[in-house]
Amino acid sequence: MKKGIIVQKFGGSSVANPEKLKNVAKRVAATRDEGYDVVVVVSAMGDTTDDILELAARITSNPHSREMDMLLSTGEQVSVALLAMALHEIGKEAISFTGWQVGIVSDSSHTRAKILDISTGRVKAELRRGRIVIVAGFQGVTLNQEITTLGRGGSDLTAVALAKVLGAKVCEIFTDVEGVYTADPRVVPDAKKLDNISYDEMLELASLGAQVMQARSMEVASKYNVPLHVRSSFSQAPGTMITKEVKAMEDVLVRGITANKNEAKVTVCDVPDKPGEAGKLFEELAKANINVDMIIQNVSRARATDISFTVPAGDLSKTEKVIEKAASLIGANGVKFDKNIAKLSVVGIGMRSHSGVAAKMFRTLASKRINIEMISTSEIKISCVIDRKDADEAVKSLHKAFELGRKPGK
Ligand code: ASP
Ligand code: MG
Repeated sequence: MKKGIIVQKFGGSSVANPEKLKNVAKRVAATRDEGYDVVVVVSAMGDTTDDILELAARITSNPHSREMDMLLSTGEQVSVALLAMALHEIGKEAISFTGWQVGIVSDSSHTRAKILDISTGRVKAELRRGRIVIVAGFQGVTLNQEITTLGRGGSDLTAVALAKVLGAKVCEIFTDVEGVYTADPRVVPDAKKLDNISYDEMLELASLGAQVMQARSMEVASKYNVPLHVRSSFSQAPGTMITKEVKAMEDVLVRGITANKNEAKVTVCDVPDKPGEAGKLFEELAKANINVDMIIQNVSRARATDISFTVPAGDLSKTEKVIEKAASLIGANGVKFDKNIAKLSVVGIGMRSHSGVAAKMFRTLASKRINIEMISTSEIKISCVIDRKDADEAVKSLHKAFELGRKPGK
């Protein structure tokens, strides 16, 4: 009797060298031996993608994005083939594929493409033959046969999308940590592994810099209700299940605390206080494809107002060019940039039905004399921009204030 399909995704750190690849092969083989059909998605080995990016940077600061994708997609092609060989070595039938070979069709926005469709024929035929199917993560192909990549961390998206179209029982995300934690365990030693978390919470934590799963993959998982299991590739222990919201989750006020150190703050000074000016600024940013995150506008005193916003740190130089021009066009009085910020966030669906979370967060920061520069809120999170040097201390003290740590003896 067939037990169904399981999709297993292994990140770069799980396949960083031949020994680790062999370990992954054993793990995959064990799942196959339990009677499941297994589809494996792998990332490039270790820091390969960063190394490749650096190589390109040594040639040009302005590569064509099509060529970037030609280059980036090579990393995953190496690891799929090696994993297939490792499985063959232990007597398992396995076959590796690139994204285009299994028909992962994407739009043409190079380096951050969206998956449009996946044809399951080839994968299913190989599974029927009894083979383990290994698919290169992070890549697709346009209708014009151009290779694309799906944005950093995009192997998560490949895995989730495959799990969805194949109707997999579960999509297992293997990583080098035991699961999703209440805070970064490197910063907060008594951070607790969560047994479960809702898609919405994980989406917030992912986009806030918890760096466990690619944010876009979470949106897809949530939309199609793909059950996810984030777990360690080095231990058998169960990790964190990411699922639809269940009632018990609401009893927990705050689920996790994160600090995102990958944003920068931009302030446009003395923007003329009349309709349409903010629109002009943000239109220019949108045209340049820059994702603006938090925005605040000060109260206007003398017919001019400061507008601050945050952008991904990696987009800062692009932002500088665009915003300086836009600011002078509308007659603002200069632009200031601050790279030394962190976005601190508390997340939990329990917040919807409880009050007092913001007050407690601000009080805790005040008690540590940490200044809040910007605030934004949604139904299930509160974020503050603070000085980056205070980030770790802020996370620690909030983790304590909301009593998220492990109980002694556990
Ligand atoms: N190798 C790609 C990256 O480093 C994709 C991934 O690992 O998910 O972003
Ligand atoms: Mg990853």
